[in-house]
Amino acid sequence: MIRPASKVPKKLWHAIRIVLIITLTLIVVTPPTVLHAWTTNDLNTYQTKYPWYNPNDTCGNAAGGGGGPANLTVGKDFSLGPLTDSVGRRVNLMKALMSDYHLTPEQAAGPVGNFMAESGGINLPPDINEGEHVGAPPKFSGGYGWAQWTGPRQVSFINYVTPPSNPAYMASKSEHANDAANYAWLKKELNESQKVTIDAISKTSSPEDSAVAFEAAFERAGNKVLDTRKTNARQVYQEYQGKGTAQGSTGTGGGASTGSGGAGCTGPSSTGTGIVGKYAFPLIGSKKVVLNPGMFRNGTADRGGHPYIAFDILANPGTPVAAFLSGTVTEVTTDKCPGRMISIYNAESDLVVSYLHMDMQGNAALGATVTAGQQVGKVGPPANGCGTPHLHIDVAAGKTRPGCRREDCPAANAAKFRDIGPQLFQTYQVLPNN
Ligand SMILES: [Zn+2]
Repeated sequence: MIRPASKVPKKLWHAIRIVLIITLTLIVVTPPTVLHAWTTNDLNTYQTKYPWYNPNDTCGNAAGGGGGPANLTVGKDFSLGPLTDSVGRRVNLMKALMSDYHLTPEQAAGPVGNFMAESGGINLPPDINEGEHVGAPPKFSGGYGWAQWTGPRQVSFINYVTPPSNPAYMASKSEHANDAANYAWLKKELNESQKVTIDAISKTSSPEDSAVAFEAAFERAGNKVLDTRKTNARQVYQEYQGKGTAQGSTGTGGGASTGSGGAGCTGPSSTGTGIVGKYAFPLIGSKKVVLNPGMFRNGTADRGGHPYIAFDILANPGTPVAAFLSGTVTEVTTDKCPGRMISIYNAESDLVVSYLHMDMQGNAALGATVTAGQQVGKVGPPANGCGTPHLHIDVAAGKTRPGCRREDCPAANAAKFRDIGPQLFQTYQVLPNN
């Protein structure tokens, strides 16, 4: 007997429906990301994995670290922008983290990539309960908010942002959380109970490594999905680069909370790191830290009369000096001021960047690895040999700086120096004005 033809598609359709239902169920009941409080055991595990981590060092490692905890203040009007602009929201959160914690774009991409992997997904809704697709007040079961905080951390989050806490970012516990509430709590955790996180991601130099470090230090997720976190971090990093040269042009987020160096850190006010591509402006702060801004004009920078390619940027003593390119410290010595000279070699481009006339104290150590924008020292005090305090920066081919001074620079050595005028000009442009 021949079976009626219509029966087969009907059965097939039934099977497809079952597969669909199972798939959808799996998506909805995917194991929750579980955040839990940082325990002594976690700390020990972490230090075994990352021996450089010192829980008492809030200024990062000898290489300058992440700039220390930022100011806790978050404006009540802090917003990443409309939920419909997911790219803008992601990039704005990156900018806020860069500004507040003196992170490079690569480092700031890690936390954002993690939050994209949490239940809220790519537009980082501030008021989403785990497994739901619309915003709501916190239910205190499962995760809630950007990081899908659970358990005691979720309770502390909501207590921190509702009355009698002041400022109260939400009028009551039955309100929807907003971006300001999420960012205020995120900063509270990053500055206090989870401050290991900033140290951890400050040691990384790629969005992927930062995503993994952030998961290990902060999320400690039940469902790690590391590949998703890494892919997300790379995505938002690229989105930032697409928008990175037009600072301040996206949304209302990012700049709403202003950072300042943490207590006990000799360093940066972390108000500005000018990054364009792989280059960072070698001083940290606003445009105002440069006391000879006229050196930047016509798309390049003035060489200030050196007989080889080099640049003198005038700044007050103590102004934090940032790595212009990432790399490894290959030389730490004393220059004529006397001041500290540090050379940092970037293997990828086979270039060595040298920073001269710095303070003798608090510099990156020989052998340290630094990323562009990371603090490596600070401008030294006035001294006979070098006149007005300034940072001298030059870039040459090879691992170490060719011997060259204003008074004496052999032609063969002079030929090794490379013109970074255009990169200095561009990175200066993206520093905040004030
Ligand atoms: Zn000079």
